[in-house]
Amino acid sequence: MISTGSIAEIQALISKFKSEGKKIGFVPTMGALHDGHLSLVATAKEKVDIVVCSIYVNPTQFNNQDDLKQYPRNIEADKGLLAENGCDVLFLPSDEVMYAGRNTIKFEFGDLDKVMEGKFRPGHFSGVALIVSKFFNIVLPDYGFFGQKDLQQLTIIKKLVEELFFNLEIITVPIKREPHGLAMSSRNERLSKEDREKAKIFSIALTEAKSILMEKQSSEAAKSKVESLFANHKAELEYFEIVSDKDLLTKTENYLAPDTVLCIAGFMGNVRLIDNMYLSGV
Ligand code: AMP
Repeated sequence: MISTGSIAEIQALISKFKSEGKKIGFVPTMGALHDGHLSLVATAKEKVDIVVCSIYVNPTQFNNQDDLKQYPRNIEADKGLLAENGCDVLFLPSDEVMYAGRNTIKFEFGDLDKVMEGKFRPGHFSGVALIVSKFFNIVLPDYGFFGQKDLQQLTIIKKLVEELFFNLEIITVPIKREPHGLAMSSRNERLSKEDREKAKIFSIALTEAKSILMEKQSSEAAKSKVESLFANHKAELEYFEIVSDKDLLTKTENYLAPDTVLCIAGFMGNVRLIDNMYLSGV
C-alpha cells in the first residue's frame, strides 16, 4: 500500500493507473476503522482494479468543536488494517493541504440538508459536500463507495454527483452491525462497556417500528413504541422519522414501497448515534 499526504503525488499515481486502463474506486473515511469501513474496501476491491482510501477528520463538517476534538483517531492501527484488506493507495492529507486556511464555499441542498441530521447539525452537510467534492476532483474515481449507515449523507452525495456532473458512480454498501445489532461506528469506541450493550436499543427500536408498520399499524404506533423503548433504556431520542430515500421527506402512506426507510438518532450517555433500516430488507 502506498501512503501519501500529497495531492501532487496522488494525482501522479492516479494518472499512471488510468494510463494503464485501470478502474479506480474511492473509499473516503474519517479513520478509527472498523468492519463497516472494511466492508466498503472489500466491495470496492471486487469492483475495481485500484482501491484508494482516504483518512481525514474533516473539520468543516463538525458543528461542535468538542465533538471534533473527541473524534477517535487510530492512524497506525488503521494503516495496518487497510494494508491487510486490499487498499492500494491511502491518502492522508493535513488540514493545510485540504484547506490552506480557506473555508469559503458553502453548499445548500434544499430540503435534503434541512431535515433529520440537518436540523441537529447545522452546516454538517455543507462540510461533507465540500470535502467530498475536493476528494473527487483529486482522485477522479470511477466509483465512490459510501455506507447506507449515513443514509442522508448518501442521498446528498448522489445529488452532488448528479448536479455537478461528477463523472463517477456512487455504490451503496449495506450497514455492518455488531452481533447484538448495534450499527458499527467509530463513535462506538467512546461508549462505556455498559452503554455499548445498551446501545442495541437503536436497532431494536428500528426493528420493532418496522414490524408495527409491516402489520399495517399507524406511524404514531411505531413512533410511540420507539419513544417508550428509549425511555425504558434511559437513552435520549433526538428523532425517529419515516422517510422516502428519494427526498428524505416524511412519508404518511404507502409504507410498504421500497423507498421507505426508518431513521433514528439519539444519545447513549454522551455519545450521539444514528441508525436506519429499510422497511423492505435490512
Ligand atoms: P466515517 O469514517 O464515519 O466518515 O465513514 C466512512 C464511510 O464508512 C461512510 O461512507 C460511512 O457511511 C461508512 N460506514 C460507517 N459505518 C458503517 C457501517 N456500520 N456499515 C457500513 N458502512 C459504514
